[in-house]
Amino acid sequence: MARVTLDAVRKVYPNGVEAVKPCSVDIADGEFLVLVGPSGCGKSTLLRMIAGLEDITEGTLSIGERMVNGVDPADRDIAMVFQNYALYPHMTVRRNIAYGLKNRGTPKDMISAKVDEAARMLNLTDHLDRKPAQLSGGQRQRVAMGRAIVRDPALFLFDEPLSNLDAKLRNQMRIEIKALQRRLRVTSIYVTHDQVEAMTMADRIIVLNCGVVEQIGTPSEIYHSPASTFVASFMGAPPMNLMPAAFDTGAVRLPDGTAVMTAPQGRSGPITVGIRPEDVRIGRGAASFDVALIEELGAHRLLHGQVAGQPFTAHVLKVSDLSLGTHPIDLPQEALALFDHATGMRL
Ligand code: ADP
Repeated sequence: MARVTLDAVRKVYPNGVEAVKPCSVDIADGEFLVLVGPSGCGKSTLLRMIAGLEDITEGTLSIGERMVNGVDPADRDIAMVFQNYALYPHMTVRRNIAYGLKNRGTPKDMISAKVDEAARMLNLTDHLDRKPAQLSGGQRQRVAMGRAIVRDPALFLFDEPLSNLDAKLRNQMRIEIKALQRRLRVTSIYVTHDQVEAMTMADRIIVLNCGVVEQIGTPSEIYHSPASTFVASFMGAPPMNLMPAAFDTGAVRLPDGTAVMTAPQGRSGPITVGIRPEDVRIGRGAASFDVALIEELGAHRLLHGQVAGQPFTAHVLKVSDLSLGTHPIDLPQEALALFDHATGMRL
């Protein structure tokens, strides 16, 4: 096990693309850290630098107490799990799991014991003599996990490991990987573009946008106190409602003049105001919601339409019947997030 420290780690590819702007984070021993962001934001580049598959242009990376910038991937004491599993098709599950150990000259009886233990943990005991082609997608992913576990690494790196699985299996494997990590307590860095995976699996999340760290925090911090409009709209499904607004005559006002909260003394000018769909109260209040579409989702409903001429979504529990058309709504002051109009940063 190990703590991992990134100090102003930066990546510029030879073609001049700055894929990762200086990134600093201290990852605690045993922590599950998720790197999340849209395609092209630099997640894989950052992970590959930690793995040693990509040079670090500037900054330092330490695993444990050791600075590893120049250290070979094989000597970093890490195990990586990829989205394509990287299994050998001609080898049995047992040999696939044992492969790395065998290469390192681990004694045979120790290999056998470790493979059996990993197989038990991963529910693969009955499949040890099968080839990967005879396994389901979830089982193949477990074999890839098994291969990582038996090496007892200081650090697990996951590169979108669930993206080849269907939605149901992804949910199941997400829980399995998280439970396994809890049990083994191996420091883990996990890359995904899926905000649900990030929210449900992480101890802490790094949200990346165009190579820039937008926010580092626990899932709850990221969700309830997003540092920017980018984080607010990327994390959460449906995302936070964001509307242009202004500090105007002592109030925060929507484009139609509705006052949603009192403004701090002496402030004026445009801002962006945000509210999570589930924080909207329907049936009373100063604002008016023009509901154009109702999505039935069983336990709850999503109402889509406009507030003050802006696209707007509310999430309501399925208690009362609601019709299309105009409804009064309350945007509770304590649920509002205010962002700088120009930079998108939280005020
Ligand atoms: P993500 O994993 O978030 O999709 P990547 O780390 O793959 O993002 O890519 C980040 C940025 O770096 C992108 O703009 C991508 O085009 C660029 N990039 C990735 N690999 C290379 C490379 N080998 N050479 C040049 N640019 C690259």
